[in-house]
Amino acid sequence: MGELEAAYDSFVSAGDIAPCLAAFNRLCELLDLNPCSPDFFRHQLAKRRSGRHWRAGQLLSVLHQKASAKDYASGAAAAGCRALVIGGGPCGLRTAIELALLGARVTVLEKRDRFSRNNVLHLWPFLIEDLKALGAKKLAPHLFSGPIDHISIKTLQCILLKIALLLGVDFLPGVGFEGMEEVPPSAPGGASIEDNGGSQGFRCRVDPPEHPVARLEFNVLIGADGKRNTLPGFRRKVFRGKLAIAITANFIKRGAAEESQVQEISGFSYIYNQKYFNDLRQATGIDLENIVYYRDDTHYFVMTAKKASLIHKGVLLRDYDDPSQLLSQQNVDQDKLKAYAVEAATYATGGGLANMEFAANHCGSEDVAMFDFTELCSAENSCQIVHRRGQSAIVCLVGDSLLEPFWPTGSGCARGFLGALDCAWLVKQFCSGRCSVLEAIAERESVYQLLSQTTPETVSQKFDDFGINPSSRYPAYNKLSGLKPDQVRHLFDSDMPE
Ligand code: FAD
Repeated sequence: MGELEAAYDSFVSAGDIAPCLAAFNRLCELLDLNPCSPDFFRHQLAKRRSGRHWRAGQLLSVLHQKASAKDYASGAAAAGCRALVIGGGPCGLRTAIELALLGARVTVLEKRDRFSRNNVLHLWPFLIEDLKALGAKKLAPHLFSGPIDHISIKTLQCILLKIALLLGVDFLPGVGFEGMEEVPPSAPGGASIEDNGGSQGFRCRVDPPEHPVARLEFNVLIGADGKRNTLPGFRRKVFRGKLAIAITANFIKRGAAEESQVQEISGFSYIYNQKYFNDLRQATGIDLENIVYYRDDTHYFVMTAKKASLIHKGVLLRDYDDPSQLLSQQNVDQDKLKAYAVEAATYATGGGLANMEFAANHCGSEDVAMFDFTELCSAENSCQIVHRRGQSAIVCLVGDSLLEPFWPTGSGCARGFLGALDCAWLVKQFCSGRCSVLEAIAERESVYQLLSQTTPETVSQKFDDFGINPSSRYPAYNKLSGLKPDQVRHLFDSDMPE
């Protein structure tokens, strides 16, 4: 039992992909379980019920409560589905968890092999409750203590990965999705095809090309690879606003007592705090539209800077109208950018952070970045269903692939998670056979129309009732006034005659 407890402790404390997978595989080895088996969770519960108590028990109880929601039909709601989630960001992982709870066999492809994003996300209240209901506090007890409503992206990914693994999700790091293809009728089956329960419709092309996942077949494909969505079949709408340049900076947190005295800034913006920003400009020459400061794993700052002040401070070398030319590597003085970020952060914290040293980013370089968010993309539709030779496959987008957020509203993960739950509802409806394919698509697209209007106030405040059924989350949702099947016919791509 000592070894098992130690393996579980390593799993809980793992802070990146490799240690997390290693600890999970060790746990499975000790319990004589197949890591990718959806039976893992059930096995553990059985053991707990039979009186073998161990520390995982608390987390498993929370997960058990979650899994017992009616919508999942005890893991039978999508039992025949084989789902591929492209991207192990927060929204891809959240979707994978829901699909696993519905009983689907789920594989997540993540092209990176590390979780290294220091940036910190502000979370809407429902999201905090959602994470607690998945057992996040059993994995990281310090989270969401008191008024803290933020989390670093890498911590969020780690927590979601651990939950996904416990639910039987197969997570493949270092595997990039390159495209999908229909399985020709006579194609020989791959090694694990029997596990799939026969032909499912689609295979993926991946990098590295010889990876065994390329031989698997899927009938649910989820695009969760961020704003550069690679799944075909989704037209994009582009919203172009006025030039907007953001800077993010992460500094090492040293844990000194003085650091914890510094006030966080959950979002100052020029319209509400004109004197603050005018004083900043006069004192430093730095001209900002907004600034956020969170103390998390790092000291994290994000701000929108005005172009003129970036030129004035020598960060941008020349003025160009085209944002990509303006922010091109050749036009940015990296040292001046660092100095700009340090000066703004020092002003914002009243000099309360001594020895400001940049944390390392995913490349091991100093974690400061500048990017343009003048253009925001969203998909025209959230799903399509492809039908070939008697088999149907669902193709969906979630997260930034579906709807890229305007970051100052802090809406990215909130809308991303809502979209993940909506996507799971589509899969459930589709598998239930209780409605036609067109009715299922019409419902999904009607709900998608509500997503961009959601705010912390307009989603239902009954967080305990949140489930995958859209009516549990969107008070404004009225199924009867939504899109009609005829209006979404173009999203059903079928080889059947009319
Ligand atoms: P991503 O986080 O982009 O993850 C996509 C994943 O897919 C990545 O891990 C990537 O490596 C992987 N991938 C990409 N291509 C492939 C491929 N071909 N094959 C396999 N894997 C692939 N949101 C909030 O909720 N609150 C905030 O306060 C907030 N602040 C923000 C501040 C800034 C400056 C920015 C830029 C964004 C902010 N956001 C915020 C938005 C938030 O970061 C995103 O909405 C969120 O990360 C989206 O998650 P995702 O899983 O959809 O995509």
